[in-house]
Order: sequence, then C-alpha cells, then structure tokens
Amino acid sequence: MHTKLRLLTPGPTPLPEAVRLALAQDMIHHRKAEFVRVMEELQPRLQRLFGTRQPVLPLACSGTGAMVAVATSLFAPGERVLVVEGGKFGERWREIAESLGVQVTVVAVPWGEPVDPAAVAAALEADPSIRGVLVQVSETSTGVLHPVRQLAALTRQRSVLLVADGISAVGVSPCPMDAWGLDALLTGSQKGLMLPPGLALVALSERAWAKAEALGPRHFYFNLLAERDKNRQGQTLFTAPVNLLRGLAVSLALFEEVGMEAVFRKQWALTAMVRHGVRSLGLEPLVREHFTWGLTAVSLPAGVDGAQVLQAAARYGVVLAGGQGHLKGRIVRIGHMGYVDFGDILAGLYALRHGLLDAGGFSACPNYLEIAMKAYEDAMSTGYPWEEEL
Ligand SMILES: *Cc1c(COP(=O)(O)O)cnc(C)c1O
Repeated sequence: MHTKLRLLTPGPTPLPEAVRLALAQDMIHHRKAEFVRVMEELQPRLQRLFGTRQPVLPLACSGTGAMVAVATSLFAPGERVLVVEGGKFGERWREIAESLGVQVTVVAVPWGEPVDPAAVAAALEADPSIRGVLVQVSETSTGVLHPVRQLAALTRQRSVLLVADGISAVGVSPCPMDAWGLDALLTGSQKGLMLPPGLALVALSERAWAKAEALGPRHFYFNLLAERDKNRQGQTLFTAPVNLLRGLAVSLALFEEVGMEAVFRKQWALTAMVRHGVRSLGLEPLVREHFTWGLTAVSLPAGVDGAQVLQAAARYGVVLAGGQGHLKGRIVRIGHMGYVDFGDILAGLYALRHGLLDAGGFSACPNYLEIAMKAYEDAMSTGYPWEEEL
C-alpha cells in the first residue's frame, strides 16, 4: 500500500497523467465529424513520428496484428522472404510468414548480436527469388538494435521490400522511414508511445503500396488498401479504438512539446544509466554493442534464478521482465522506454541489487547508484549517436 508500482517492463509501459485523462473521456462516434477531426490532427503528427510522407494507418490490434497485416499485404503464398532471426520477435516474423504459406530463408543471428549486413547481402545475392527482408529495428527479447538502415541500402537496389518491426523503436530511437528507405514500418501502442495495448500503426513506402495493389486485398480484417481509402476520409475501416487514438494525440503532443531530439536523448541517457548501474553491480549487459535504447537485458551469474530476482524486486514495487525462449531464467530485462525517468531507474537498480542478494550472493560497488546517476547526467549533456551512425 505504501509502495508505488514502477512498471519497468519492455511493454506495457507506464502512462503519463495527461494520457490517462484523455483515455477517461466519454465515447465519441467513429463516423462523425468530431472523430474525423481527431484523425486529421493525428495524421501529420504520425507522419513526423514515422519520418514519412506516406499515410500512417491505425489498426485496432496489438503489434503482432500489424506484423500479420503487413506480411499478408505484401507477400503472396509461394513467394520467398528472408527473415533475420536472432530473438523471439525474429522467430515471430518466420512463424507469421510460414502461417501464410510464404517461403522463408532464415539468416540466423546469435541472440544478443546484431545481424551482419554482409550476411544478408550474401543471402540476397545467392537467391534472387527473395522478395522481402523481415527484421526488427529493435529485437525486444535481447535488446539488440539491428542495422536496418544498412539493410535498407541493400534492398533498395533490388526488388526486395525491407519490412521493419519498429515496435520497441518508434518514439525510442531514430528510425526515419523515408530517409532510411524502409518499405514498411510498424509499431504498437504499449511500448514507446506511452499508451495502453490495443493499437498498432503501419506505414508503407510507395513501392510497397504498388506491390500491395498488384496483389489486391488478401485479408478481410487486415485490408490495408481499404484502410488507406478510409484514412483519406479521416476514418478507419471498422470501429476505431477511439479512446486509444485520443490518448495517442496527447502522447504525440507530449513528444512535440519537448521535441523528438530531447525524447531520444533521454532514452539514450537512461540506457547509459542502466548499463553503468548494472556493471557497477558486477553484472554484464547481454548486448555489448548496438544495444537498443528502450530496454536493457542483463545476464545473470550462473546459479542465480531469474524468477527469484524478479520476485524479490517486486517487493520494492519494481516490475522487471525475465528472458524469453532459451534465455528464460538467465537474464533480467529492464524496460526504460516511454514515460520512465531517472528516478524510476534508481528504484529499479536498487530493487535489482536486492533481488540479486536474495537470489544468491554477489559483490557490488557500493556507489552503484551514484555511478548510474552520473552516467545519466553525462549522457544528457553530451548527446546521443545521430541516426547516420545507427
Ligand atoms: C512487443 C513486441 C511485439 C509484439 O507486440 P504485441 O503487441 O505483443 O503483439 C513484436 N515485436 C516487437 C519488436 C515487440 O517489442
């Protein structure tokens, strides 16, 4: 009762008060002028968020729904795609493609490492029948940032579509769709966008739209061609998630109040804070380089049970996430995207330390909170790697 809950998971993430108040409003009708105004005001903001001149379409589904919508719209059964598989969500791309009868070539990457663009180039060279590359901008199961900008430079020269799952990257670190040449970018509401789950956003490039038009509508619910038509009228194909869209208008206004540069800088600084903090605790982040800016996976010492660490941390009101797949029990994931600040991370690091003490002894630098805080302040004052370097 005296403990404040701090949700430091890689989605869902905490909600700012202004967003919660927007969500609490009474219903408006999704076919009337008041809703059209919401949609028309959202569209330019969403295009700035995605860095695209193409329409950004809201869908009433979780992030995975948007993955399915894009895959069915762009690839026919029998066509071949390349999937970058280095974590749980890469696996999901493969499973979705397979469920649609799309042939899959896997470029396997050890969990915790980014894909080597040369490996993708070689696979595309070896098999000219590949029509798409499906990848995560940020692989949330490990905390890796894949070099999608470099992958897009490869696919742009070929008739291969680059499809980027940006669910834990959009609004967290730069991934400007048009500038990088991405053919599809999608995200979900409950990660960087500071909203509850249930809303996804999708944009396609000009050539991806051409491909979708050539294939024609392929799914009754996830019909992006018809969604685009409705979007031009300020509506959605079916009943819109009205309150989530009104909440989205508020969260995007919060971004714009400070500017995306400040949002990315804070994300970068929180990442530096967590990485320095866990190292001072005698632990190692799972990802050495090319780490994402919205979560940090931490390897646990042999013999320490991850589930026990999470349970002990929860006593301090801190909700951390465990590992997925073969990393279950072996890592702890600290989410720090969206409405999370340095105070939450101080609490998170303290809870992690005591979780570890409970789960088995270890030695730590007594100054770990000071060191983490200094890393945060240094990163806030020195800036972050610009999008060219990602
Ligand atoms: C969270 C996440 C998903 C799954 O989204 P759901 O909303 O749970 O369907 C997919 N990809 C990535 C990269 C994610 O972080």
